[in-house]
This record gives sequence, structure tokens and C-alpha cells, in this order.
Amino acid sequence: MKSNVKLGKIAGIEIGLHYSWFIIAALITFSLGERFHQVNPSWGSGRVWIASLVTALLFFVTLLMHELSHSLVAQKRGLRVKSITLFALGGVSQIEGDAPDAKTEFLVAFAGPLASLVIGFVCLAIAAALGWHPATEPRTAATSVLVWLGYINASLGIFNMIPGFPLDGGRVFRAIVWAITKDADRSTRIAARVGQLVALLFIVYGIWSFFRGAGFNGLWLAFIGWFLMDAAQSSYAQVEATSAFRGMYVSEVMSGDCVTVDRGVSLEEFVDTYVWKTGQRCFAVEDNGRFVGLIALRDVGAIPRDRWNSTTVREAMRPLKELHTVTPDTQVLDALKIMAGNDVNQLPVVTNGTLQGVVSRSHLMQLLQAHSELSAGHYPGIHRLKQKGVNP
Ligand SMILES: [Zn+2]
Repeated sequence: MKSNVKLGKIAGIEIGLHYSWFIIAALITFSLGERFHQVNPSWGSGRVWIASLVTALLFFVTLLMHELSHSLVAQKRGLRVKSITLFALGGVSQIEGDAPDAKTEFLVAFAGPLASLVIGFVCLAIAAALGWHPATEPRTAATSVLVWLGYINASLGIFNMIPGFPLDGGRVFRAIVWAITKDADRSTRIAARVGQLVALLFIVYGIWSFFRGAGFNGLWLAFIGWFLMDAAQSSYAQVEATSAFRGMYVSEVMSGDCVTVDRGVSLEEFVDTYVWKTGQRCFAVEDNGRFVGLIALRDVGAIPRDRWNSTTVREAMRPLKELHTVTPDTQVLDALKIMAGNDVNQLPVVTNGTLQGVVSRSHLMQLLQAHSELSAGHYPGIHRLKQKGVNP
């Protein structure tokens, strides 16, 4: 989740908005406007819309406070926090690295819902002090704003404590399982499985209540369930990859048989003599034995067919300085992070300007597949399988 609009920094953390935030902010403002208008027909439209707009904006301030609580606790516990992005379904804190121990995981995860609950309670308390009686509709603009913020934050605090990993409650649950089992990977697997179950319950209940006449609310619940299901599944896949590749280096998984092509060759000749004859998809480009770039089939495809004769490999390739490279002793997990962070499928492995090989996402996924078939549920990790003499 990348932010499209940057708002500034708090405690060194970049705060930003994703485009989808604007849609949800507008939706909240309009539905609040309608609600305020219904409850208080005597209000003029100026008061209705100002109250709605202020409520919507303050709602996002409270969401930001929720995320900041996660982030500041993470910073206190020695983790680096890069940014916070607000988007349609709430906020995400981009915390670098995973919690090193169960206690950190617990505190970081619990800080957010706790903040929401406190904010909710404080808003309702101020509204009460201003003359609002619980279980009645607020009558003034100020109490209307506060009561809505109070209830929404309290429900957010409770909702986030549902043990559906990767919701906050799921992380709290994971931290507890971690503290009991002393096994970080196993606790993530268990939490992700429970998360899938919770997500399924959301979907089933959402669809059921839709057919019982709940309309949009039912669909919304089912949608949240679907979102949670997706997140729980990718958390599961991620922990599989992490535990399989932990402690492994790029030198163990890179393919060294990269075909090289001279930079002066025309694309026409390149396709005829290299692509068709080797069946490879990626080639290293050399200039007098020095590695200068990579050329993949899609780079050739980007050049119109009638210009292949007059275009050289050098002109179509991605030059070395634009590529993200790794060395043979880069950790495989770091290489995967670089690929994911830069949206590339392969990384050249380079030492002192010489290409040693290429590490590709598809090859790593094949290894993962082989690993899961070989280990069939014991999860010893590719590294340990190799040490046992099995070579996936
Ligand atoms: Zn949270």
C-alpha cells in the first residue's frame, strides 16, 4: 500500500493518504449528512454539512492515532517505522522487520485497539459532560460529532480485537500462541488458519444477513470477510516462504547458466539465434566480457517488430545502473523483499561487475513447491533438507 498524497512526518514517520481514502471520506461525509439531517430536521443544511465534514475528518484523525499507537510502541521496542498510510479500509503502518519476540508483537498489536477504545470512551465522556444522555439521540452539533466518533472508535477497538489474523486481535492471538509454543512460525500458521476461519464466518454471516434483508450491511460484512480471507491466506503463504528460505543465501538458489549476448547484436539476430535456440527468457548483456545489463523477452516485445533490424540489444536492454542487484551472499529472504518492493521478477547476482547468475521469483516458487512436497507438513526448511542430503 503506497500513499499517493503525503501529509508530512510525525516522529520521523511519513504520513500519507491512498487515493481510495478520498472515496471513503466522501461516502462517510454524505451518509453522515443524511443521518444528521434525519435525526435533527431543524438543522440548516450548513450545520448538517459542516458537522458531517468535521466528523469525517476527525474520524481519520482518530484512525491515524490508532496507527500511531502501533507505530510509536514499535519504535519504543526498537523497530523502524517507515510510514503510515490511510486507505479505504482504515490504516496501515509500514513497520520494517518483524517483531523479535512475543512480547513486542503483543504490545505493538494491542496498542492500536487500546487507543481506539480510549478515544471512544473519552469522546462519549465529553459528550455526556456537554449534556448528552446515553441511549438518547444527541441534539447539538458538538455532541452529535462526539457521540458518532465515540461509538465508531469503540466499535473499531472491539472489531480489531477479533482474532482474525492479520487484524490486530489476530496478532495479539499470535503473540499469545508464540509465548506458549516458543515457535514464531508455528504461531503465525495457527493464527493465519484461525484468521481464515473467522473470515469465512464473516462471509457466511454477511451473505446470510443479506438474504434476511440486511441489504448493504450484509454485503459489507461479506466484503470485509473476503478481504480478511485474502490477507490471512497471503500471511500463510508468506510464513511458508519465510520458514523455507530462512538462513539460505542467493548462491544456493541462483541459476548460473545465464546466456550472454553482446550489446551490439541486433534484436532481429538476438531473437533468431538466442531466444529460439535456447528457450531462455532472460539474457545477460555483455560489453567486452563486462556485464552491462539484462534483456528479457518483454523488453524486445516493447520495440515494434519493424524496428528489430535497426535496434541493438544495448538500446532495448535495462542497463545495470537501473537494475536492483544482489550478491551471492545476500539472504534469499532479502532478495525476495527486493523483488516484491520493486515489482521485478528477477535479480542479477553480481560481484565486482561480473554476472554470477540470476535469481528469479518463479524459480524460488518452484523450490517452495518442491519443498512442500518433500517435507509434507514437517517444515524442516529447504536449508535443513539440503543438509540432510535432499536437493529439491
Ligand atoms: Zn490496528
